[in-house]
Amino acid sequence: MSVVVVGSVNADLVTRVTAHPAPGQTVAGQSMAVLAGGKGANQAVAAARLGARVAFVGAVGDDEFADVATSTLRTSGIDLSGLRVVAGPTGLALITVSADGENTIVVVPGANAAVDDAAVAANAAAIASADVVLLQGEIPTSGVEAAARAAAARVVLNLAPVVDLDPDVLRLADPLVVNEHEARGALALLGAPPDAGDLQDVAAALVRAGVRSVVVTLGAVGALVATPCATAQAGPPDVVAIPAPRVSALDTTGAGDAFVGALVQRLAAGVGLVDAARFAARVGAYAVTGAGAQASYPDAATPLPAVGDETAR
Ligand code: AMP
Repeated sequence: MSVVVVGSVNADLVTRVTAHPAPGQTVAGQSMAVLAGGKGANQAVAAARLGARVAFVGAVGDDEFADVATSTLRTSGIDLSGLRVVAGPTGLALITVSADGENTIVVVPGANAAVDDAAVAANAAAIASADVVLLQGEIPTSGVEAAARAAAARVVLNLAPVVDLDPDVLRLADPLVVNEHEARGALALLGAPPDAGDLQDVAAALVRAGVRSVVVTLGAVGALVATPCATAQAGPPDVVAIPAPRVSALDTTGAGDAFVGALVQRLAAGVGLVDAARFAARVGAYAVTGAGAQASYPDAATPLPAVGDETAR
């Protein structure tokens, strides 16, 4: 089963600080690394490392950052025939990670801005033949919408960041993967009234608004999976809580992308959504215990932390 990721690829400029600078403040960085990143590339690498057959559609610039941005894509066995080189800078992310593992990120889109509807049209055959098409919000809206419409099978949409998508495209997602903030943003895009209730209610409201299935990621808490009621057509959506294994967080950068890549690898292998999310939560937890994004992702042979087995790692 094949996965096509249409998405962003960045060079991550990562520095560690004792505490994040306040506006107007300068702090000393303790280290500096240039790493491969971008939500699309991170998710592609996470899925491929776990055994999925992955092709990546995206763009890098003609600068010195293009090589490092694509380094792990190249070493993970990903088909890069849909990767274009365009004039100008490669996408960049300026990341500061504090001692408590929290990060701040400034993203400069650069070449990712070229992954629009025309770029999707040039790769329409590959997208239409994929078993799963995986999309995020770091490329132009026209590219996300065109790719979702070109898909002939399953579309997984990680609405990160929230971008102003056609609500009909949100409804194609199966699942829509969002964090708490993105879940509320998606509800607004669907024209549904803001949900004052808890996240279970928000996840259910997204399904009621017509999204095929929804996964809400909740950091250290885990995730929620919401699907239409299995027993009665007009019944309330089913919402299942997925716990995360307890781990000690070193660097949360890219944990959400590890979760999404793992989820898609399992879905492409024919696993059901709830079981795929249980696996993805273990992969997300593993990813926060290692430094960086792609460098912290497991392969199929890596022992993963498990819920209730907190000594595993
Ligand atoms: P997030 O994007 O922060 O919600 O993280 C995505 C997924 O990674 C979560 O749904 C969890 O399964 C996992 N995860 C993230 N942070 C942690 C953490 N501190 N401890 C355990 N699992 C985590």
